[in-house]
Amino acid sequence: MPVLRVALDLPLHRLFDYVAAEASPADVGRRVRVPFGRGEKIGVIVEVVAESDWPLAQLKEAGEILCDTAPLPDDFFALCAFASHYYQAALGEVILQALPGGLKRMAAPTRRNVRAPAPLAPKPAPELTTEQASAVAAVDPAGGFAVHLLHGVTGSGKTEVYLRLIDKALLAGRQVLLLVPEINLTPQLEERVRSRFVEAHVVSLHSELAEAARERNWRAAFSGEASIVLGTRLAIFTPMPRLGLIVIDEEHDPSFKQQDGMRYSARDIGVFRARQLGIPILLGSATPSLESWANARGGRYGMISLAQRANPEATLPTVRMVDTRRKTLKEGVSDPLIAAIRQRLERGEQSLVFLNRRGYAPVLACPACGWVSRCTRCAANMVLHLADRRLRCHHCGCEHRVPKACPTCGNQDIHPFGRGTQRLEGWLQEQFPEARVLRVDRDSVKSRKQWEAVLERIHGGEADILVGTQMLAKGHDFPKLTLVGVLGADSALFSADWRAPERLFAQLMQVAGRAGRAELKGEVLIQTEYPDHPLYAALVAHDYPGYAATLLKEREQAGFPPYSFQAMLRAEAPAMADAIAFLKAASLLPPVQEHEQVMIYDPIPMKMARLANLERGQLLAESFSRPALQAFLPRWREAIESIKAPSKLRWHIEVDPFEF
Ligand code: ADP
Ligand code: ZN
Ligand code: ZN
Repeated sequence: MPVLRVALDLPLHRLFDYVAAEASPADVGRRVRVPFGRGEKIGVIVEVVAESDWPLAQLKEAGEILCDTAPLPDDFFALCAFASHYYQAALGEVILQALPGGLKRMAAPTRRNVRAPAPLAPKPAPELTTEQASAVAAVDPAGGFAVHLLHGVTGSGKTEVYLRLIDKALLAGRQVLLLVPEINLTPQLEERVRSRFVEAHVVSLHSELAEAARERNWRAAFSGEASIVLGTRLAIFTPMPRLGLIVIDEEHDPSFKQQDGMRYSARDIGVFRARQLGIPILLGSATPSLESWANARGGRYGMISLAQRANPEATLPTVRMVDTRRKTLKEGVSDPLIAAIRQRLERGEQSLVFLNRRGYAPVLACPACGWVSRCTRCAANMVLHLADRRLRCHHCGCEHRVPKACPTCGNQDIHPFGRGTQRLEGWLQEQFPEARVLRVDRDSVKSRKQWEAVLERIHGGEADILVGTQMLAKGHDFPKLTLVGVLGADSALFSADWRAPERLFAQLMQVAGRAGRAELKGEVLIQTEYPDHPLYAALVAHDYPGYAATLLKEREQAGFPPYSFQAMLRAEAPAMADAIAFLKAASLLPPVQEHEQVMIYDPIPMKMARLANLERGQLLAESFSRPALQAFLPRWREAIESIKAPSKLRWHIEVDPFEF
């Protein structure tokens, strides 16, 4: 009797065997209903074999094999197997997370008819600049596997390079996968793709799509009907039979890294997938990740540079420091910045004040007794949101009404301390009553519709002063925006997180890149107490390569990635002592002694030690050899699985960790 080896969505590193009288090897890659526990699950058939390791009599019988899609292909399984091995994630979880929800459920969702998107008027392609032309020429969709890093300053026309390469791939009859960090933030890109390729079937894949739409788009990609797939990180696993090119825009963006469940980097999986299929992959950014930059400098990736803005009228903005040690600040804003905003108002141009902290104030406090609005569930403060009079924890999401008096001493005179975008917005409105001030952050813009409306207002010149978080930093073209003021950036300069400077530099470079994208010259004012800091000096000089070299040298000296390879074991439990004891036990397991090239550090609490009522600890494993780390991890993981831990303790391994 044939035996099905089935992948199920469970955190267990094994497949599940079922007997199925009618099954044949042609069913590999199909979904199947199987009994599990007291219920039923949908799994994916990974193998059909003649015999099981278990006595046949103990195996349950599989239910219906679902034939509504073609079987998942070998390369899909190979990709999932790679991810499972590399990230120490259960194969079943990897396979099933790659499928849209509708394919994993028992009842088929009711289908609705969909309207095709309104046809767009085709937009002609601009003539390429010389730099763009050589960038396009450097990538050959028919030339086999290659990783290209496209380093282009903001406004250098990277998107146009993507579009030309997509065109080449389509002409060769191939499909293209274009990954972007957050689809909501890039409606302009989607429109540019659709209006360039009006004949092509373009689908998007991201977590905010309604389930039916996501399933439909996934099926179109999988059947080969869709030729362009525009997606976020989860789209990297989409099986595509004719895939010929992968493009990852803003490749440095942290959102390509999944931070819960299966923790993976879509960029790194993209590189593996390109290698597996023998196709090129293009990683684009104005501020590449140091990992990619080091790979390109070391010759492992091709390096393509766009040093000039594509629009010949547009030049890079002038970046200046405002030394706040010598200036009095009003509500955190310096006179030179106020004067610069006033000047823009007089000229009918737009300003953007960047403050990466939403809410009214980061904390509410009582000066009489020292009470502060701490989250009871996290090691963090509750942020004051005056707009809806709430205290809200940005980590666990819990919230309360703003108290009228201090909860400990009854003092009615409690104050907000520090400032966020809401407070800044209100204050700027008071200073410039005639101006239209528009705040753009995750509180004011929650849906894609709202986001499109906001972009329209900005483009239509219906806003004079924008107050925004990093939401506004990415990829937008606002022709009338000529001034960017940056507040509160210093706090990241001396962060204990060694990735913080890399992230800050990228963020400031991106936000500065919003200024002066058209004919009008742009200016960036950064308020700081450390005007001579090398990070700011590099911004003034628009010198990404120089600053990257500095950071890489520091990392090399400290033995940090990309000069070492890391994996983090994390444990969370109601009591920190339990988490630490578990990690300590993990650090003493036999594989740790047997793998000399892997170093294990002491268990420590995470920087944010408490989140949503759980205490979190971590243990770092590090090696100067990737193969050594990779050989160690599966053996370590198996050994950890046998540790007897308190029932409420949860643990996971994150390879190439981001958070500390
Ligand atoms: P990036 O993604 O590198 O920041 P974009 O692709 O958004 O840059 O291009 C910046 C601006 O330059 C856009 O307004 C775009 O329309 C324009 N642009 C791009 N390529 C050209 C070109 N070859 N000629 C003229 N304008 C161009
Ligand atoms: Zn008090
Ligand atoms: Zn909280």
